[in-house]
Amino acid sequence: MSTMDDPVDDLSVTPPKTWATGVPAVTHALEYALSQTSPRRTALTLLNINQAKGFDCPGCAWPEPAPGKRHLNEYCENGAKHIADEATSRRVTAEFFREHSVAELAGKSDYWLNQQGRLTEPMVKRPGATHYEPVGWDEALGLIADELRRIDPDEALFYTSGRLNNEAAFLLQLFARAYGTNNLPDCSNLCHESSGHALQETLGIGKGSVSLDDIHHADLVFVVGQNPGTNHPRMLSALEETKRNGGKVVAVNTLPEAGLIRFKHPQKPRGVIGRGTAIADEFLHIRAGGDLALFQALNRLLLEAEDAAPGTVLDHDYIARHTTGFPEFAEHARTTDWDDVLAATGLARAEIERVHRLVLGSRSVIVCWAMGLTQHKHGVPTIREIVNFLLLRGNLGKPGAGVCPVRGHSNVQGDRTMGVWEQMPQSFLDALEREFGFTPPPEHGLDAVDSIRAMRDGRAKVFVGVAGNFVRATPDSEVTEQAMRRCRLTAHVSTKLNRSHTVCGETALILPTLGRSDRDMQAGGLQFYTVEDSMSEVHASRGKLPPASPHLLSEVAIVSRLARLTLGARPAIPWERFEQDYGSIRDRIARVVPGFEDFNARVAVPGGFRLPNPVNEGVFPTPSGKAVFTCNEFTMPRIPAGHLLLQTLRSHDQWNTVPYALDDRYRGIHHARRVVLVNPEDLADLGLADRDRVDLVGVWQDGPERRAEGFTVVAYPTTRGSAAAYYPETNVLVPLDSVADHSNTPTSKAVLVRLEPAPEAVTAPEAPEALATPAAQEAPTTAPAPAV
Ligand code: SF4
Repeated sequence: MSTMDDPVDDLSVTPPKTWATGVPAVTHALEYALSQTSPRRTALTLLNINQAKGFDCPGCAWPEPAPGKRHLNEYCENGAKHIADEATSRRVTAEFFREHSVAELAGKSDYWLNQQGRLTEPMVKRPGATHYEPVGWDEALGLIADELRRIDPDEALFYTSGRLNNEAAFLLQLFARAYGTNNLPDCSNLCHESSGHALQETLGIGKGSVSLDDIHHADLVFVVGQNPGTNHPRMLSALEETKRNGGKVVAVNTLPEAGLIRFKHPQKPRGVIGRGTAIADEFLHIRAGGDLALFQALNRLLLEAEDAAPGTVLDHDYIARHTTGFPEFAEHARTTDWDDVLAATGLARAEIERVHRLVLGSRSVIVCWAMGLTQHKHGVPTIREIVNFLLLRGNLGKPGAGVCPVRGHSNVQGDRTMGVWEQMPQSFLDALEREFGFTPPPEHGLDAVDSIRAMRDGRAKVFVGVAGNFVRATPDSEVTEQAMRRCRLTAHVSTKLNRSHTVCGETALILPTLGRSDRDMQAGGLQFYTVEDSMSEVHASRGKLPPASPHLLSEVAIVSRLARLTLGARPAIPWERFEQDYGSIRDRIARVVPGFEDFNARVAVPGGFRLPNPVNEGVFPTPSGKAVFTCNEFTMPRIPAGHLLLQTLRSHDQWNTVPYALDDRYRGIHHARRVVLVNPEDLADLGLADRDRVDLVGVWQDGPERRAEGFTVVAYPTTRGSAAAYYPETNVLVPLDSVADHSNTPTSKAVLVRLEPAPEAVTAPEAPEALATPAAQEAPTTAPAPAV
């Protein structure tokens, strides 16, 4: 396929895979890499990714083993694709923008936009213009600075995604606060905000507590609402290690994902020629949103086991020394109703009791989770209930035990640590004031959902996105796009073209930047920067490739120059020095952010250092100084007859909002993305058949219906009552106001929909997902339906 073609859906379906990785993962990764760039660049990137002297994978935030224990190839299929996508030899030039109007680009798919290659020079779309045109850096940044000076600081938004490194993130929040706002929405608002909220409330720190070594040596690891085979593939190596050390794994999911069933390690003979390692000892095929009920049932069973054999089940010493709220929690947990649990989970009581026996036989337990928990209305209570579960047997702060929210983007945790959060605590703001001599605004800023509301209502006028693809990562696509278009100015710091560049404010800017694999040369010499992974390990990342274009600036340089132009000399912050020497930024971080003392020296050590987690010292920075048991109510998800609860998810050939191909190999979906996976019994109840063409119609309170048109139904072993389809195509169905309690995270895993037979010919497919021509949509499929 030429890069100038938009892809066409041509669905074929094969049975879902029952194992992940193995040799096909290697060949697919290499195929993609070689389609993007030369064998030499491919080798250079793959030999440096995740190595102590190389660069951090820009993919997920799964940690690397200690430097001496790493493989020569310390990456997964998706990491290799991701770095190849960044190291591509394709280029988007000024000529390209002359040829394609913004309106034309807005009609292209996410896949097509990404495939055009790396951005090479700053571009501007001036008010009333139809095309982007080249612009110098000084003028581009001057346009933003002029606009920022014209408005009230709280009318500006500074968005980041997890690609941003620590140094740039620290400068961005410093700039925003010196300018006068805490409007720092980030991609965490959309994913793990529920985790941060629940863990902060119950343990006093909104991060995971475990290390890779803990995973390896746990007696029991729960993997809940998470698909590691696609979203954190090297986690499977860690789980394999757990199994080889005698530990067990319980997987809880609405789909029987390949990586949860069996893993073939591509670098081990047993993974190449053998059957690989079975991962899940128990697989709980749970209903969407049933996890809170599951952990309440497990907690009730633990309390009852303690009643039957006092002093043998609960860790009374731990509970007495380290927790508050146990009596109230225990009383509440004993009222858990089995009928409700079985209805909410769709599980048999015997399945839950089997898992309970595994828990009783385990001295150390870890619970890992991802979006399958956080993007529900009751995401926060669910994670609080998991904390209850772990506290009961003292499974926090000891080897092989703890909480593990698995972050999906490489530095999403680090960006938070650096202060990119709309509600940083006063202690952080005070430290900034001491270090830089200005008073940051005390009021909380806007998160991602509230930012969309503010743009929609005309309360926010300037949007600056440093990394990310805001309009595709966020819910309610049509509302979000209209909101962005109301802005006076939108600016995106990006490595590649994406849909957010085509959804413009009156003035729009594309500011091209260095990627992880690019060398970063500044006036002070060759620079490196740092990142923090999901397990609080902080380490250096050094790009190795010549930058994609001589006109690129690093994110640090862009933020520093914008800050200088906007703020002038006040407050007295040495932006120029920061740009020349990133070590000078780390010196300031060391004085502002707890845990980063002596930052430059400690990060110079290969592999870096691990941030302290007080929970592991038995210290809980909550108001009471103790971990908090909580009482959590669950409301049964109500699915009216004729409806399904849809979850949006990634395909295997996708990184966040960017599809690398139209395939989802592990689920057996090929050459198409507009598919909806539905349980065959639900299909029968709905009067539909496998491969029927449908429109997905979102139903939310009394509001207007939301539609995603032209999907093909695929019979698939989802749990009864639930369905699954890919984002960002289905983000259009997620209502902006449907958010998790307390965290304001969109409920993208619980979207009430009905499936309407699609009209014979789709006359007005929605852009940019118009991947299929009617003729192609009707093309016969080439493989039988999966056995379900
Ligand atoms: S597991 Fe995550 S961090 Fe590691 S190589 Fe894969 S995508 Fe990158």
